[in-house]
Amino acid sequence: EHMIHIIGGGLAGSEAAWQLAEAGISVKLSEMRGVEGTPAHQTDHLAELVCSNSFRSDDAERNAVGLLHAEMRALGSLILRAADAHKVPAGSALAVDRDGFSAAVTAAIEAHPNIELVRERVDTLPEGPAIIATGPLTAAPLASAIGAETGEDALAFFDAIAPIVHRDSIDMSICWFQSRWNKGEGKDYINCPMTKDEYLAFHAALLAGEKGEFKEWEKDTPYFEGCMPIEVMAERGVDTLRYGPMKPVGLDDPRTGRWPYAVVQLRQDNALGTLWNMVGFQTKLKYAEQVRVFRTIPGLQNAEFARLGGMHRNTFLNSPRLLDGSLRLRSAPNIRFAGQITGCEGYVESAAIGLLAGRFAAAELKGEALSPPPSTTALGALLGHITGGAEAETYQPMNVNFGLFPPIEGRTKKSDRKELMTARAREALAEWAA
Ligand code: FAD
Repeated sequence: EHMIHIIGGGLAGSEAAWQLAEAGISVKLSEMRGVEGTPAHQTDHLAELVCSNSFRSDDAERNAVGLLHAEMRALGSLILRAADAHKVPAGSALAVDRDGFSAAVTAAIEAHPNIELVRERVDTLPEGPAIIATGPLTAAPLASAIGAETGEDALAFFDAIAPIVHRDSIDMSICWFQSRWNKGEGKDYINCPMTKDEYLAFHAALLAGEKGEFKEWEKDTPYFEGCMPIEVMAERGVDTLRYGPMKPVGLDDPRTGRWPYAVVQLRQDNALGTLWNMVGFQTKLKYAEQVRVFRTIPGLQNAEFARLGGMHRNTFLNSPRLLDGSLRLRSAPNIRFAGQITGCEGYVESAAIGLLAGRFAAAELKGEALSPPPSTTALGALLGHITGGAEAETYQPMNVNFGLFPPIEGRTKKSDRKELMTARAREALAEWAA
């Protein structure tokens, strides 16, 4: 009798259920906690925060995640409403009392006349209409069912994230555009050259750098040779990197006309060309260490990172390939995906994608048309990245950031850009919402 089935009552599933219920749609929400736990959750509450209690910056003028908060508030987000009601002092960040927050979300969902919350584990793909929002720790039987539908190679169980750098922070007086042996377009990579001394110092810094530990339940998930952490490769020998991701052959430094001793390559990461990933640089180095060590790379001395590297257990789809512009599975359009399983990263982003999935589904069930939010809004930029803007070949989870937004046209002072982007977003969202 329900009009839609949502699987997973985390950040995304709770928000999606709320948006649908508020639009007058009856929802069945299945959440397995209460019957079976996950390796990271501690309680039976919906929308439990598994680690930090922070929703990050709340600055809607100069910060992309702060802007996303503002857009979600404007669209009646349950997650933001509960967060605002349970916020704790955290400077310009939005941090919450985690128990009060998830208790409030649970109470609101349980009290909504259009939502039936069922404590059960779902093991098969639903017929639909449905939204799958089972998160990075999706239970194994359902993960297998999803993998069978999408093809195993389109569902990852581990992220292997190389740092991503804002293009405008790379020093192009040192780096140059060139593909190895001038293959392809000939200019597909940005190359950072190293002398022998620079390479040896860099190798030593990788070995000495402080690393994060794998959690107990992450240890059983092996990483493939193809995505081994850079520091593990460095441990294998002083030249391993020089014959691996840092090999210089076929790359002519225009300043010397010769191949450097070693090279760090960056490859374009989004269609806009604003974000570039460091090829082969997935790492378990601690964030502060990554910034310190990677800024010793010639040309990256002022690098600003859209995201730092990492490796975690994480179930996520190759969304740019599998999902359409409104988060439907192309091969089974009655099923939408939402939350971190789509390859966004973070509490706020997961909830934001839940909000959009809920709104798209509600419009569809009511026979209405709903265009995606404009790419100049935080919601639209994030959605656009997931559903097409990101490179499918190298797709890895991503937080919202200004590199996902179309650049501001014309010449602008760098210091004004963030304010210009958020002002542009506010206008576009208001128009879209109307
Ligand atoms: P979840 O919030 O995990 O919700 C998914 C829900 O689906 C869960 O309640 C789960 O019990 C349920 N479920 C799974 N399978 C089934 C099934 N088959 N049937 C029924 N129910 C099912 N992000 C941050 O911003 N800050 C952090 O500090 C942070 N720390 C993290 C730490 C860890 C260990 C992990 C794994 C992730 C972390 N993240 C963090 C990333 C991410 O933001 C969170 O995982 C976020 O909760 C994702 O939201 P979601 O709704 O997609 O998934």
